[in-house]
Amino acid sequence: MPAAGNEFARYGGRTTCVQIMSEYLPPETILAVDAGTGIDLLGKKALTEGVKWAHVLFSHWHHDHTQGLLLCPPMFKEDFTFYLYGPEEHGYTPFKVYEALMQPPLFPVHFARVRHHFRQKPIRFPEAQAIVVHPEGGFKLLNVDELANAEKNEPAQLQIRQGKYPVEECLVIRMIRGNHPDRSISYRFEERPTGKVFVFMTDHENTDGISQDMRRHLKGTDVLVMDSQYSRHLYDEHTVGFGHSTPDYCVRIAAAAGTCGFLGLTHHDPFATDEAVDEVLEEAKAVADSIGYKGLIRALADNDEIEI
Ligand SMILES: [Zn+2]
Ligand SMILES: [Zn+2]
Repeated sequence: MPAAGNEFARYGGRTTCVQIMSEYLPPETILAVDAGTGIDLLGKKALTEGVKWAHVLFSHWHHDHTQGLLLCPPMFKEDFTFYLYGPEEHGYTPFKVYEALMQPPLFPVHFARVRHHFRQKPIRFPEAQAIVVHPEGGFKLLNVDELANAEKNEPAQLQIRQGKYPVEECLVIRMIRGNHPDRSISYRFEERPTGKVFVFMTDHENTDGISQDMRRHLKGTDVLVMDSQYSRHLYDEHTVGFGHSTPDYCVRIAAAAGTCGFLGLTHHDPFATDEAVDEVLEEAKAVADSIGYKGLIRALADNDEIEI
């Protein structure tokens, strides 16, 4: 849930929404992960900057990642199109989620009233699918086999809607399942022209060891933003199985990437005051010192921007 009050003023208390900015996105397009209450800032910006399309990739369907969209200003703007991507879980597609959330008496407007300016892209097999974005061609959700086959050709090109576009001009988004109740997806964004990689991993609980699949997902990461909800003590005493990470685990994941120069801690516990978040950050830094991780570590606040 969102947090408000003086003791939360420095880090802020909005729930998850992250915008990904890249010069390889098509014009007038916003790309974001999740639609928690942080989407209010993005929604206002979308209206003032002449944005027409928003592609929102959902990590999963828990309320803290979905509730902001209901009152996001472009929701009721007829000439604005939303593309909702997310895991198809327990038979819930993106539309089914919002049909459930937007209906009286839970919400005054039925989703059916706005559905005509929405499109959905359910993701059934995150590890076997990818999203490819080309600045002129647009977005395509495809199987990784199609991407791999395209990359075997010379020149390596992908069919996106009506045209063929070089893979090397694309932003390529890959996915992996997280360790979370009802499961979650972590998204990896790779700008092929620059080689820059950003990984966003929220609602993912500590695992024993780091799997080969996870290592592949992290390979070449420049910036990692990760769920660090609980201090190690709180986790060990009370929250094992709740689906969230600890700062020591985040540092180990960042170190496993080998190349990660920035670790951003996010998804702060809604009960954690600014001071408590500072303590989580200090815990992460102490672990980094002890294992020799040299990247910069910060606890992220509402509205923070990170540049790669
Ligand atoms: Zn969750
Ligand atoms: Zn969450």
